[in-house]
Amino acid sequence: MLQADLVEGVMKHIHEGELVDLARALVRINSVWDPESGTSEKEVAEFVAKWARDEGFQVTVEEVLPARPNVIITWEGVDPSRTLMFEAHTDVVTPGDPSLWRYDPFGGDVVDGKLFGRGANDTKGNLAAMLIAMASIKRSGVKVQGRIIAGVLCDEEGMMAGVQDFIRRGHADGVTAAIICEPQDGMICHVQKGAIRARFIAKGRMSHGAMPLSGLNPMPLLGKVIGGLSQMELKAIEKVGKDPLLGWPSFTPTVFRAPSKGPAQLNVIPATAELLADIRTVPAQSHEEIVRELRELASRCLRETEEEYRSLDTLLGIERERALELRLEILTDRPCTHTPLDHPLVRALDWATKSVTGRDPVHGGVPGATDGTYLWALKGIPIVTTGAGKREVPHRVDEWVDLGQLLDTAKIYALGALAYFSIPS
Ligand SMILES: [Zn+2]
Repeated sequence: MLQADLVEGVMKHIHEGELVDLARALVRINSVWDPESGTSEKEVAEFVAKWARDEGFQVTVEEVLPARPNVIITWEGVDPSRTLMFEAHTDVVTPGDPSLWRYDPFGGDVVDGKLFGRGANDTKGNLAAMLIAMASIKRSGVKVQGRIIAGVLCDEEGMMAGVQDFIRRGHADGVTAAIICEPQDGMICHVQKGAIRARFIAKGRMSHGAMPLSGLNPMPLLGKVIGGLSQMELKAIEKVGKDPLLGWPSFTPTVFRAPSKGPAQLNVIPATAELLADIRTVPAQSHEEIVRELRELASRCLRETEEEYRSLDTLLGIERERALELRLEILTDRPCTHTPLDHPLVRALDWATKSVTGRDPVHGGVPGATDGTYLWALKGIPIVTTGAGKREVPHRVDEWVDLGQLLDTAKIYALGALAYFSIPS
């Protein structure tokens, strides 16, 4: 796909030592978003911005939220008819209890060819690989038939404010394809599950736990919603089956809070209760239909619970005000993403993977949501998610990445980018 001298000219600028040093330096900067202890993405973003400026790139730092910046790095080629975006996030999740770790979560230890630490796998190793890949292209002096932009973004592990800000400010305009640098164990993931996140808020009346008839308990209402979600899941499993790359659809209640705010107490019926549901979809499902069914579920559960309270009151011969409410909010509605196998970016990464590793590329699907989902949903940008690191390692203790695989990844990013610009659409 690319001439040998071109490949050689870029590859000679990728050095394992430099890549490992960069990845370790990134891991050593604690970038957990934790306003209480004062850590955020700011320090790591400044580090990346300085590194990229020193390499001679055009760099912009934009504050998304206080102490939470995005870094945008651009490299203009000769004919910017195509723009390839690299995306990686700077935030990491909490290490939890550091005493459970064998290595310091922010020590950047290298043992037996593996880098350990929070973010080594998700996704600072891949961030380093992407920076080195961009630098190798620039250093080689090759004439790139297109433009490369890197979004080094904050808040991926939270509400994804970084990528939304990136899009809002127009940086995604003109981007023709994006590589999402996340741990996929070297697989080329061209499809991704969709997500609907819903909040059900039930309102009843507070009372003493010993005198339930003087109140109206909102919890049984949400109990019905939980049952209904299981029914919806079973129905979806029967209807659409298992997606070959993405697996099964799921409707998972993840948070039940009663009261929805403030402390819970054993002898108090709360006035409010809320339930959060995390629904993950496959391409054969319709989000519109799911949202409609969630609304139907909410009205049915409300009707049935009201009916039960009415029967109870009739049985007991009492009369009480039964003003029960249930509100449904859709917090997130992101579709599945599906970049076709014959898209120039998939073909470019297939070729780069084969050239670097000597093995046939493996295609896969991403079960979780990433910043890429927003690029797809809001801007229609074809995305491929790929990077070093085992997929089950993120967010666990003793997070690690294999440095051999990370080196391959830097090469695949560099050659994949060059090949992308060379493939006619
Ligand atoms: Zn990640």
